[in-house]
Amino acid sequence: MRFLENLKNLKAYKTETTPCKIKLSSNESPFDLSEQLKEKIANKIKEIPFQRYPDPTAKQLKEILADFIKEEEGISLKPENFVLGNGSDEIINLLITIIDKNVAYPIPTFPMYQVSSDVARKNKIEFELDENFDLVKEQIDKALEKNPDIFFFASPNNPTGNSFNKDLINYVIDKGIFTVIDEAYIHFSDKESFLKKAIEKENVAVLRTLSKIGLASIRVGYLIAKEEIATQIDKARLPFNITYPSQEIAKIVLTEGRKEIKNQIKIVKAEREKVIKEVEKIKDIKVYPSDANFFLIRVKDADYLHKELIKKGILTRNMSHLPKMEGCIRVSIGKPEENEAFIVALKEIFD
Ligand SMILES: *Cc1c(COP(=O)(O)O)cnc(C)c1O
Repeated sequence: MRFLENLKNLKAYKTETTPCKIKLSSNESPFDLSEQLKEKIANKIKEIPFQRYPDPTAKQLKEILADFIKEEEGISLKPENFVLGNGSDEIINLLITIIDKNVAYPIPTFPMYQVSSDVARKNKIEFELDENFDLVKEQIDKALEKNPDIFFFASPNNPTGNSFNKDLINYVIDKGIFTVIDEAYIHFSDKESFLKKAIEKENVAVLRTLSKIGLASIRVGYLIAKEEIATQIDKARLPFNITYPSQEIAKIVLTEGRKEIKNQIKIVKAEREKVIKEVEKIKDIKVYPSDANFFLIRVKDADYLHKELIKKGILTRNMSHLPKMEGCIRVSIGKPEENEAFIVALKEIFD
């Protein structure tokens, strides 16, 4: 059974699961929804006809997403510009399933591009970033020589936190290769999005998610592309992939809870600047700049620091065993008091 051999060689997606009081390991929003909003959601859930399938097109949710984007970025979208996924992970998986053969992405980056490529037995074209984790033209050129069918650029990138050089992403787009800009963290960035490009050009799509802005639990991600492209990709999606409860909850949160969510994003951005400034004062820690709701640090002994933080009830993500990530730990932005506790813990450990 050849498929079993393939599975035996797979590296499954791993997350930190050690229970800790303060969880700064998964780039979630540190804020839960308000009680009032939860009350509204609870009432809505009671009205769901649970024996029924959800709307397979999730049209209302797409209209609300379009309105959310219109308010944020001034760009008008139609439901036909969207492909929804059970998390953007599912869309990554879908894209990799439908493309011909070769999947290109820089490393280090979000692990799902690699995981989905291995599962679907597609060829990986991995290329390196520079010492500041930015794109390098020579590396991209080498990748281009290998006939990529799709490029993935997570920008801001995970786990590094930085946005990529826009000109080099455009360089790939101008080669006509299908280019996906994964903007999971765009809400925390002041850099320009590729959304406009995505609705202009046939070979560009933007990926986004509700997971990093307070709704990781309901698994809603989305792709935005030109109508002609999105409607084709949407045919390959599984019919009822966004559950009835997820559609209803997302609709409520993006309308009645919109102010709340936007305010939380603002707090996270402000906290990021505060925490980074404090960590930078500790001389044995290198802090990388971040456009996301987390940041990356580099220390001499990441395993030691990671363990010591757990002892103090703080869970971070140890990245030090990945290529090019020696000594690196990724830290999500928490609530103000959690960030405070993190800083205090760091100071104690480094004293
Ligand atoms: C978290 C993350 C995702 C996946 O988000 P889901 O919508 O929760 O599946 C996609 N891309 C990047 C870069 C991420 O960090």
